[in-house]
Amino acid sequence: MQSISPETIYRGNYAWQKSLTQITKLTKSPLILGRGIQTNNLRNKIFNDLKNQKLNVNSANLKFDCCYEDISRVKNIILKNNNDSVIAAGGGKVLDSGKYIAACLNIPCITVPLSASTCAGWTALSNIYTKDGQFIKDVSLRSCPKILVYDHKFIQTAPSRTLASGIADALAKWYESSLTSSRIDDGFVQQAIQISRVLRDQLLIDGEKAFKDQFEENNPSWRNTVEACGLTAGLVGGIGGEKCRTAAAHAFHNAITQIITPNKSLHGEIVGVGLLLQLRLEEMKNNNKLAHQSTKQLLLLMNQLNLPTTIAQLGINVFEDNNLEKIADFTCRDKSEIHFLPFEVHRQDIVEVISNFEQQKIKI
Ligand SMILES: [Zn+2]
Repeated sequence: MQSISPETIYRGNYAWQKSLTQITKLTKSPLILGRGIQTNNLRNKIFNDLKNQKLNVNSANLKFDCCYEDISRVKNIILKNNNDSVIAAGGGKVLDSGKYIAACLNIPCITVPLSASTCAGWTALSNIYTKDGQFIKDVSLRSCPKILVYDHKFIQTAPSRTLASGIADALAKWYESSLTSSRIDDGFVQQAIQISRVLRDQLLIDGEKAFKDQFEENNPSWRNTVEACGLTAGLVGGIGGEKCRTAAAHAFHNAITQIITPNKSLHGEIVGVGLLLQLRLEEMKNNNKLAHQSTKQLLLLMNQLNLPTTIAQLGINVFEDNNLEKIADFTCRDKSEIHFLPFEVHRQDIVEVISNFEQQKIKI
């Protein structure tokens, strides 16, 4: 069984308005799930638009993260209200929680991403964290969301930092899948990897202009970039399925989230650093001569997008509090994606690569 995409996708300006007819047919009593106060206005609009359609609407917010505490609290709210769907409107954590809760209760999920920071609005996957944001595991869901509403007018209101984060996360698709899955003899997997290459090229071509001119009216670079991050990246996961795997960049991400910091970094910001670490690992442990060129190319773009390029810039000193050891342990734990790499990686390799990476500035 493979769920490739949401059943219906609305995209472009005013996609939300266009989706209302179908949403009102699908649900009579939705719960709108959100999180941050910065997206309150948009969620209020969604709430009022649905009320005007004579739906019985409730809302709830995550207190922490896509974590078991919030999940069970929101599940109880839904059971108490008798809601018949979840409308998850927000970033990746909200979308992942909404999909997971809807799957547990066997009710449809409608995703309304409010930034281009991840492809979570598309996929049949939820990442579960602790309430402090430490990665626990990812869970495969039976299906992608019932309806995905990718309204450009909503996404345009998001801070440009979320777009940069989405670009880093989407770029990782090519570098990770081409490394782990290129030997898999399955047409869908091979085609998914090819799409992720085109996706990377699109981001290298359009990413900077999209980021710098986000608020310019009718900016095709911005349109193509947000759709690449929020939609095409999801399609790669849908077609490639479990075999089109994440690799070291996400393994490093998952390990770095184990260190709790006062200022939280976004998912893609950490994945971006993980991607640079993956390339360094390939260079040092697999003698990959192209990895250094890729690093230079990525650093150019990441600097233009104001993305962090070291673990220190994520607010973590790896040489304090056993942080390096904690990251290396989690990176190499039994269930880690690091073991999907086509070469063997040991804990000591990770310690060596991260120490080298954090101490040495790469010339570009
Ligand atoms: Zn990701």
